[in-house]
Amino acid sequence: MTGIVQGVGFRPFVHRTATDLGLRGFVCNDTNGVSVEVEGPGIAVETFLERLEAQPPTLAEVRSVMVTELEVSDATAPFRIAETVPGVETSALVAPDVGPCEECLAEFADAGARRHRYAFTNCTNCGPRFTIVASVPYDRSNTTMAGFEMCERCREEFSDPSDRRFHAQPLCCPECGPQLSFITPDGAPIAHDPIGGLVRAIDDGLVVAVKGVGGFQLAVDAGSDVAVARLRERKRRDGKPLALLVRDIAMAKSLCLVTPAEETLLTSPERPIVLLRRRTTPIMRVSDLVAPDNGWLGVMLPPSPTHVLIAEAVVRPLVLTSGNRSEEPMVHRDEDVASRLRGIADAVLTHDREIEVPVDDSVIRVVGGRPLPMRRARGYAPRPIRLPWSLRRPVLGCGAHLKNTVCLARSSDAFVSQHLGDLSNPIIVEQFRRTIDHYTDLFDIRPELVAHDLHPDYLSTAYAMELDGVERVAVQHHHAHIASCLVDNQTNEPVIGLAFDGLGLGDDGTAWGGEVLVADLLGHERIGHLRQVPMPGGDRATKEPWRMAASHLYVADPDVGRGHSSVAQRNADRWTPVTDLARTGLHAPITSSMGRLFDAVAAIVGDRDVITYEGQAAIELEQSIDPTCVDSYPVDIIDGAPFEVDGSTLVARIAADMDRGHPPAVLAARFHNWVVDMSADCADRVRALHGIDIVALSGGVFQNALLVERLIGALEHRGFRVLTHRTVPPNDGGISLGQVAVAGATDLVR
Ligand code: ZN
Ligand code: ZN
Ligand code: FE
Repeated sequence: MTGIVQGVGFRPFVHRTATDLGLRGFVCNDTNGVSVEVEGPGIAVETFLERLEAQPPTLAEVRSVMVTELEVSDATAPFRIAETVPGVETSALVAPDVGPCEECLAEFADAGARRHRYAFTNCTNCGPRFTIVASVPYDRSNTTMAGFEMCERCREEFSDPSDRRFHAQPLCCPECGPQLSFITPDGAPIAHDPIGGLVRAIDDGLVVAVKGVGGFQLAVDAGSDVAVARLRERKRRDGKPLALLVRDIAMAKSLCLVTPAEETLLTSPERPIVLLRRRTTPIMRVSDLVAPDNGWLGVMLPPSPTHVLIAEAVVRPLVLTSGNRSEEPMVHRDEDVASRLRGIADAVLTHDREIEVPVDDSVIRVVGGRPLPMRRARGYAPRPIRLPWSLRRPVLGCGAHLKNTVCLARSSDAFVSQHLGDLSNPIIVEQFRRTIDHYTDLFDIRPELVAHDLHPDYLSTAYAMELDGVERVAVQHHHAHIASCLVDNQTNEPVIGLAFDGLGLGDDGTAWGGEVLVADLLGHERIGHLRQVPMPGGDRATKEPWRMAASHLYVADPDVGRGHSSVAQRNADRWTPVTDLARTGLHAPITSSMGRLFDAVAAIVGDRDVITYEGQAAIELEQSIDPTCVDSYPVDIIDGAPFEVDGSTLVARIAADMDRGHPPAVLAARFHNWVVDMSADCADRVRALHGIDIVALSGGVFQNALLVERLIGALEHRGFRVLTHRTVPPNDGGISLGQVAVAGATDLVR
C-alpha cells in the first residue's frame, strides 16, 4: 500500500480493522509504505480490503493498493503490528503538521484528564509531523521527540491497539514530554507560570516571541496601536499586513465576515491563515496598523495546543507574525533567538522540543467559493501533489527567485517544498540547499533531471548549474506557471494560458509578464502579449510604481507625456530624467509585464509612488475598487504574430479621467474590468486561431480575487472552461512544480 500511510495512524487502523473482522496476520511499515498480510475467510478478507480504501484515518492518503495471494499458513496468533522492515531505506511519505483534533481538544479542556491544559497534547490524528522529522522511517527515534523517554502510562497508550494514541510517535504527557518556559531573549527565566507571564507581557504592550509549530512567531496585542507600532518598528516592516490569531471561529466572526467556505478552511486540520473581509464595524478592536488601508485581515485559529493556551488566556485577537526582521527568514532554533530576536522580542515563550524543519504559516483566500493558496507551507507541505502521469526519471525543479519553493518528484508524486522565500537572502539560500537535501533523503529521490528557470542570475538557476551528473532542462517562467496550473487541474490538454505576473525572463531575452500563450506540458507558443514598454531605471521601476506611470504615459504620447497629471505633478523634478530613460532606452529594459501595468495605474489613481512590499500597489488597487462600477475602457489589440495589447493608451485614458476628477474607486474598477474584457478578447482570438476553449490562469496577478472572479464569469459566459489553482499558488511558489511537469513530460517523449 503506498501513499501517506506512515505516521498517520495507519497501522493501528489496519490492526483494528483486521481484529474486528477476526483476521490473522500482521502489518508493518516497509520501503514503499505499508504492507499487510491477512489470513481468514474470503468474505472477511474482501470486507477488510473495502474498509481499507473506504475509511482510512483522517491524515492518511492511500495512493495505491497492490494485492497478491499467498499460501495459507494456518497461523493461530492474533493480528499484530510487526517491526518496521529493518535495513531498507524507506521512501514512504511523511505527513504535514496538523492542528489539534476534536478529541485532543476535549481532553485538553477536561480538568480531570491527564493532559489537562498540556501544550503538547497530540495523537495519531493530530500534532507535529514534518517539522520534527529528521529522517525516515518515521519513528520517534528519528524525530526531535527522541530525547523524551515515554513514561509508563504513555507507553501503555502507545502499545495498546485500542487506544487512539497507539503508535503515535510524538505522544507524550506532562510527566514525560516537553515543557513550556518563559524567558528573556538571552535565556534568563522570567516567570514561573509561562502563560501567565505571556499574558502580563501582552497586557503591557510588549512583543513576545512564541515558539510555534514551524518556527518562532512574534505576538502583540492586536488592539493596541502602541504595541503594533512597536512590533512594526522593531521588525522594520512598513505597510505589509500582519496576521491575527483568534481564539475561535466566533472571535473571527466578530472581526470579519466569514463565508461557509472560509469557516471550513479556518477550522480545517491544516489551520492556515485565511484572508477574510473585515467588518466595517468590528465587535472587537483591531489597530489600524495591523493592515493599513486594507479591507482584509489574515486570520488563523490556534494551530497547536500551545496556541490554544495563549488564545484562551489573552481572550482577544493577537497579532501573530513570523519571528524575524523583514527580509530575513523566520528563526526556528533556540540558539538563534539571542542573536536574531534580541531588540525585537521583549520575552520568549519557548519549550524544549526542537524544530527540525522551519515551516511558515500557510496563507489561503477563498476565490469563487474555492480555496486559492497564496503561500503553501505548514499543514500542506510536504504532502505530495499527484502528477497526471508517471515520470521516467526522478526530477528536481529549482523554482524561481522570489517566493521560491523547490519540487522533488518521482513516479507520479511531486513533493513541492514549503514556501522558502526570497533567494536574495543568504540564509534563505542555505535553507534552499538544505531543503533539497532533506527532501532527497526523506522521500528517497535522487534527481537525474534538474529543471530551472531561464534566468541566469537566479540563484536557483546557479544551483542547477553547479550540480554534477544530472541532465539540465531550462523551462521558461510563464510556461512553468501554466504547466503548474495544468498539473493542479490534473490535465495535459493544450490550453490558452494567460500568464500575468511581475517579471520573468522570456524566450527572446526580454522581461515578460503579460503573456497569452498556447501551451501544454511539452511546449508553449507566445500568441500575444502586452505591448512592451521601458522600465526606467530597471529594478527601481519595480519599487517605484510612478516610474511605470511615467513610462506608459510617455509611450502613449511622447509630446505630452501627461506632464500635467497629478502623478507627474507629485514627481515633477524627477519626471523628465525618467521619461528620458524611457526615450533613450538607457538603463530601461523593456517589459510586457501585467504587474508593472497595475503599478502604473496604482500610481495614477492610488497615489502609490513607492512600494514598501512586493505586490503592494496591486493589492491596494484591488482594495480601492468601487464594486458597483461595471464600465470599462476600450481594448486596443494590435494585430500580429504575436499580437499586442496596448496598455499605454489605456494608462493615458485613466490619467485623463483622473485629471477630470473621476473618483479613483471608479477608475480602479474600470481598470479591472478592462483587464477582464481584454483577457476574454485575447482568449477569443486564440480560440479562433487554434480551436482551443480551455483557459488556464496563472501568475501572481491572479491572487487578485475580484479579477479572478470577474474573469471566470466573463470567460464562462463566452463558453470557455477555466482552470485556476487549487493546491499550489498562482505566484512563483508554483514555479518549481511547473518546471518538474515540463521537464518530466519532455523526458517521456524523447
Ligand atoms: Zn488528536
Ligand atoms: Zn507520559
Ligand atoms: Fe512569475
